[in-house]
Amino acid sequence: MNQTNFISVVIPVFNEQENLEELIGRSLKACRSLEKKYEIILVDDGSRDMSAKLITRAAEQNQGMVFGVLLNRNYGQHAAVMAGFEMARGDVVVTLDADLQNPPEEIPNLVQKIDEGFDVVGSVRKSRQDTFFRKFASAMINKVVQRTTGVMMHDYGCMLRAYRKNIVATMLKCNEHSTFIPVIANSFASNPAEIMVRHEKRHGNSKYGFFKLINLQFDLLTCMSTFPLRLLSGIGAIISLMGLGFGIFLFLARLIYGAQWAGEGVFTLFAVLFIFIGAQFVGLGLLGEYTGRIYHDVRQRPRYLIREIVGKQKQLQNKE
Ligand code: UDP
Ligand code: MG
Repeated sequence: MNQTNFISVVIPVFNEQENLEELIGRSLKACRSLEKKYEIILVDDGSRDMSAKLITRAAEQNQGMVFGVLLNRNYGQHAAVMAGFEMARGDVVVTLDADLQNPPEEIPNLVQKIDEGFDVVGSVRKSRQDTFFRKFASAMINKVVQRTTGVMMHDYGCMLRAYRKNIVATMLKCNEHSTFIPVIANSFASNPAEIMVRHEKRHGNSKYGFFKLINLQFDLLTCMSTFPLRLLSGIGAIISLMGLGFGIFLFLARLIYGAQWAGEGVFTLFAVLFIFIGAQFVGLGLLGEYTGRIYHDVRQRPRYLIREIVGKQKQLQNKE
């Protein structure tokens, strides 16, 4: 089995000033224990706090080991990770969150699993430390993703993952904007695996507000496949058939029981009408999601803009 000897760790950072020092310290320690070449790439996703400064400082203090990619504004977690991928030169790329919910100490375990011959290694959060609402939403989404990608992974929400170089290169070729990295990776993986990891309480507030979370779920849904659209026409057909059956039933009831009964049936008709209107709105909404994303993609705007790269040049000078 071809052993990996260069690990890139990509970490998206958005307003995480209170976690950065511990994060970088623990990640460096974990990487050192690997006894392989490594680089830690911190992508600052347009933080409004001290994060960018802290990253720059860490890059200066740990030359050749820590790099910063500073984006000029907030583009979202997955775009930030992609920016990190662009820089990563490792044989294996590990992603994790900056909030210390994913312990960096798990990095060696991921790498070990990759060395066993897998090309994507996901992780399942042992006793997940999140709110009930988040856990419930994740559970449903995981089911849907499993169905549609046909890859049996249990936890798509956990970003503590490792990818082989070729998978990362392929992901970078995907130009679409609504990327949900774990799903895209799995659609190219030939040999995925997963391991159990610890999950810790979040330090600081979640960087996902309600609307950002909803947007992420739609990204996930639409980046997988057009399965939801198909589902839509399926459901639409079933609703129409039911409506038809109901119409026939009302007509027959009218013939048998007379107009008075049918008069009361008006309300039932209203109910039917509402079902249809509801279904149509769901359908239109979903169609809108796809069209919106198509619109985004045909414009081919860059996914992000890098303001500055810190640490990189120094490393190259040191190396050769
Ligand atoms: N993040 C980011 N850009 C964003 C939102 C989040 O780079 O717009 C980063 C954040 O700093 C963290 C990771 O993505 O490293 C996951 O975010 P968070 O922990 O808030 O998500 P949750 O754990 O609540 O799903
Ligand atoms: Mg988190």
